[in-house]
Amino acid sequence: MSYDLIVIGTGPGGYVGAIRAAQLGLKTAVVEKRKTHGGTCLNVGCIPSKALLHASHMFEDAKDHFEHLGIGISAPKLDLKKMQAFKQEGVDGNTKGVEFLLKKNKIDAFHGAGRILAPGKVEVTAEDGSKQVLETKNIVIATGSDVTRLPGIEIDEKVVVSSTGALELESVPKRLVVIGAGVIGLELGSVWRRLGSEVTVVEYLDRILPGMDGEVAKNFQRILTKQGFQFKLGAKVTGVKNTGKGATLTVEPAAGGNPETIEADVVLVAVGRVPYTQGLGLDQVGVQLDNRGRVQTDAHFATNVAGIYAIGDVIAGPMLAHKAEDEGVAVAEIITGKAGHVNYDVIPGVVYTFPEVASVGKTEEELKAAGIAYNAGKFPFTANGRAKVNRTTDGFVKILADASTDKVLGVHIIGPEAGNLIHEAAIAMEFGASSEDIARTCHAHPTLAEAVKEAALAVEKRAIHM
Ligand code: FAD
Repeated sequence: MSYDLIVIGTGPGGYVGAIRAAQLGLKTAVVEKRKTHGGTCLNVGCIPSKALLHASHMFEDAKDHFEHLGIGISAPKLDLKKMQAFKQEGVDGNTKGVEFLLKKNKIDAFHGAGRILAPGKVEVTAEDGSKQVLETKNIVIATGSDVTRLPGIEIDEKVVVSSTGALELESVPKRLVVIGAGVIGLELGSVWRRLGSEVTVVEYLDRILPGMDGEVAKNFQRILTKQGFQFKLGAKVTGVKNTGKGATLTVEPAAGGNPETIEADVVLVAVGRVPYTQGLGLDQVGVQLDNRGRVQTDAHFATNVAGIYAIGDVIAGPMLAHKAEDEGVAVAEIITGKAGHVNYDVIPGVVYTFPEVASVGKTEEELKAAGIAYNAGKFPFTANGRAKVNRTTDGFVKILADASTDKVLGVHIIGPEAGNLIHEAAIAMEFGASSEDIARTCHAHPTLAEAVKEAALAVEKRAIHM
């Protein structure tokens, strides 16, 4: 079998890249070792977590919020088995969708583990051990990432779970301890808290959501605490004793000091993800990795070996599905001689909790560190008519604009629908807009998006409703 392009891994990076390559006329094949396509994102990441976030949010709304809307219902009962089935249906629908798209675009799909034997040669080992070698002009490595493990803490996916196990729990743990206050820990912590768990988050740093705007993170922590989350910041877990029915964690102050113990029914280890290159044969072909084990690429996603490219979680940059997708499109365009490009300054990041947190561009901390003078415009949802009437007033929109040119450099939102609202900012930034451009764009009333316009007005201290 001979191809123009073989993509190894059919996560959001790989399958999108393969489709774009096929659109551009390349004879394309994909190799995937999972039974289903869609990678981490569709199988054990974005999609199942959002299904459970949606369902648990509905449960909490029905339990706590329907009454004051004038909707009388008896206390809702949780049927976790059914909720998990709802999640799985969503996952299956999405993974089958990818299978359909690959077929529609006449992409050959091989199921098995891919190994690069040499530039232009990929060996596929099927589950039954049978092997075949495929020939190709180009290879794209899109093998994604895996859970980061903590030394000495064994993940059994029952009591001590990774995100994968936390999406599959068969009963609601009474006490859930989450190690790591990043996006995945806070999203999955939210799911189980809404369904009844007491959630304690232990984080090594003295803040949550490392990398996100500090003011947003502080506000978010306050809101989560109000919802019932407990935080132990500046604390490190030094041991987890798994009894099979629960676990005892030993926790010490990160700066040193007396250890304490915390009892948990389930422990979620959510301390990040690492690039996945196992079994790919990169050593043998001489593909270089960086000091964090990521495949090293140039600005055109090319590795140091001619004809071998890499995209997505397995290379540097934010580990996000949409970043991987955009790189998939770009690499296919570059291979076919077009000007594929990803603008890393405008990659939105969203935490899908309630309220949501969303961010694009530079944070205040980053601008200060870079010595860039900026003006900040902030508008709270308490002053937005739609948020007020819906009683979803926690949060604000913050726009950071260059002090001399007024160009928008970063936008940070905490509040209802933040994950949708952020795209107005992303489009504005992609077009090099100023805060004045956003402020002068007519926004429909009454919408949450008016808070974005008001924050833009606030950059020059002329917000109307504040
Ligand atoms: P992956 O999706 O990891 O896909 C890689 C594929 O390659 C896998 O299917 C794997 O089986 C396959 N593979 C690996 N090695 C081989 C081999 N040798 N041969 C054949 N196949 C191989 N991101 C967001 O943007 N939004 C979210 O809401 C979000 N939520 C998340 C929630 C959770 C719980 C987790 C864990 C992650 C979440 N992410 C989210 C991150 C997102 O899933 C990743 O950024 C994204 O999946 C990366 O895409 P990828 O194509 O690079 O790799």
